[in-house]
Parts: sequence; structure tokens; C-alpha cells
Amino acid sequence: MRPLVAHIDLDALRHNYRLACSCAPQSQAVAVIKADAYGHGAVACAQALESEVPAFAVACIEEAMALRDAGIQTPIVLLEGIFSADELPYVDKHRLWMAIHSRWQLEALQAFTPSAPIPVWLKVDSGMHRLGFEPEQTASVWRSLEAMPQVGALHLMSHFATADATDTGYFSQQMVTMEALAAELGAPLCLANSPATLARPQAHGAWNRPGVMLYGSDPLKAPNTFTHQLQPVMTLRSEIIALREIKVGESVGYGGRWRAARRSRIAVIAAGYGDGYDRHAIDGTPVLVNGKRATLAGKVSMDMLTVDVTDIPDAAIGSEIVLWGKAKNGEVLSIDEVARHCDTISYTLLTGVLPRVPRRYGGV
Ligand SMILES: *Cc1c(COP(=O)(O)O)cnc(C)c1O
Repeated sequence: MRPLVAHIDLDALRHNYRLACSCAPQSQAVAVIKADAYGHGAVACAQALESEVPAFAVACIEEAMALRDAGIQTPIVLLEGIFSADELPYVDKHRLWMAIHSRWQLEALQAFTPSAPIPVWLKVDSGMHRLGFEPEQTASVWRSLEAMPQVGALHLMSHFATADATDTGYFSQQMVTMEALAAELGAPLCLANSPATLARPQAHGAWNRPGVMLYGSDPLKAPNTFTHQLQPVMTLRSEIIALREIKVGESVGYGGRWRAARRSRIAVIAAGYGDGYDRHAIDGTPVLVNGKRATLAGKVSMDMLTVDVTDIPDAAIGSEIVLWGKAKNGEVLSIDEVARHCDTISYTLLTGVLPRVPRRYGGV
């Protein structure tokens, strides 16, 4: 069998969820498991968390129904609400909670008769300028929703554009908007994503919405005492399938991008962009070989990539390769560091691991 596997440590997932709770002890934390739990497998992650999580959040009704089909009973929030009115019977039947970001969604709910009131998170555009009502419209929309028998528990929700940044200016503007609305309406808030959960206590509301931190990625530009406690959940692990000696001046891989400045030993690894490993990875991107750091040498191919193991004498065919996550010797290669070498963020690497990579679950 091809040795490439994504190992998913469910103990680490629970550890990170508890860390999200301890960052914000006055809030309840929705576990965001959209996009197949950021590539980790939403059903397995939900099963691992369901005994301690008061609600899950997903992007759409298809994701919610997959969880219900797997027997998950916990409340599930639809972060973008419904995409069409014909979803409402399913929202009702599966006891989902929904965001409302647009007037047509409110009108669709008004025209519907649920079997029980539906909890609603009214989304405000406080500065992301993506989804939500204008702050000026929010009070009247809130009052309409409050008066509707279709609506259960009502919260105000908003999303931060810059909670991860060290400059808190824009974040503070968004906070001012939301605090004013909360005071005017007496509304409970749900604002904080992972960076705000970790580093912006002011944003902690009745609910928080941690996502990427649950998977062990540090979303902050400036790490803090909480982020140092995050544990990687996914380890993308493979093996060396071939080794060769390269003479000075010879190149490796497509386009001859990497060229040997010394006599070099190159290991060929079973993993490539056809598995979701980012082809933008530059020479020098870190890789763990038998738990020791080495670097990518040459462009990533579809099914293989190449690593300079000249300084790792024990590298042999079958040696353990960790592309991110935790090696068997305990050494950790952070996905955030790999992402920086690919000019991207951990989110795209995690959600980009393709179905041909088997997920194997550990920790119960
Ligand atoms: C994805 C998402 C989150 C979680 O964001 P992270 O940065 O992964 O913590 C929170 N809120 C909304 C609305 C989202 O779409």
C-alpha cells in the first residue's frame, strides 16, 4: 500500500477544544466543523466532541444533514443560513439553528410554519463587508425577528476581518459597532473566531466560534501563552520510497529548479500535489525525516516530492516522513510554518488534503 496517510489525533482535537473553552470561560464554544472539519472528517470529529460540545457549526445544510445521518444529535448552526427557502423544512426537521444575513431569508422564515421555534443568529456586517445586515438596519431587523413566532433564541453574530493581526485598530472599530448594538438591544453576542477566542477577551460573547485552532493551527501573527498549548490534530505522514546521490551542479525535478551546491543525497517521498500537498512549496520548505528537520529540494510533483537528506545519515527507504504534524519521536512540524513556505495559510493546506489520502483515526 502507498504509505501516505493523514493521521487524525482525536485526543488532540479534544485538548484544543478544551483550550478554546479555557480561553473564554464565560462563553460557550461552538465547534466549527465546516468543510469536513477542515479536512479532518466531520463525522469522526463530531463524534469525538459531541459529549462536551453544546453546538457545532457548518457552512450549509448538506454538511448538517451528513452529521444528522451519522447520528449526531447536538445542535448545529448553519453559519450562512439557508441558500433557498425550500431548505426550511429540513432546518425544522433536523432541529438546526440558522444565521440570517439577508432580508429574503427573514421573509422566507416568515412564510414558513416550523414545528418548533428555530434559534436564529442575526448576522451583522460590522466591517468584514461580506455577509450581514448594515449596523443601521440591525435594530429593526432584530425587532421583527423578536416578534416572529417562528424564531426561538435570538443572538447577534458578526465576523472579524483582522482578529489575527497585531494592529487592533480595525478589530476595535468592529467591536464598538457590536457593543453598541448589544447594549441597545440587550442582545447576546457571538463574535469570536479562533484568533479572537485566543487573544481578544473583549470579543468573548455568550458564544464563540473557534475553528482552525481546534485542529491545532495557531492563527495569530503574534503567538501567546494559549497558542503554545495547541496540539496538532492532523499528521500527514509518508515514507521514503527511493534515494539517490546527486553530483554538484545537477538538478532535481521539473524545470530543474533545485540544483546541488554540494554532493547531495535526495530522498523521494510518496506525496504530491495530487494528494493536496501544495505545489507552491519552495525549496527549503521543512519536512521531518525520522523526526529530524530536512528541506524540500525541487518542485512538488503530482505523486512524489523530493527532500535533501544529505545531513540525515539514517535516512533510508521506508524512513518516516512527516509533512506536517507530529513525528513518532515527538518532534512537531507546525502546519503554519509549512504554510508560510507555500505562501498560504494552514486552512488551505488542511482543507486541501484530497480524498485519495486515507484518514486514520487515533485517540478515543
Ligand atoms: C469559519 C468560520 C469561523 C471559524 O473561523 P476560524 O478562523 O477557523 O476560527 C467562525 N465564524 C464564521 C462565520 C466562519 O465562517
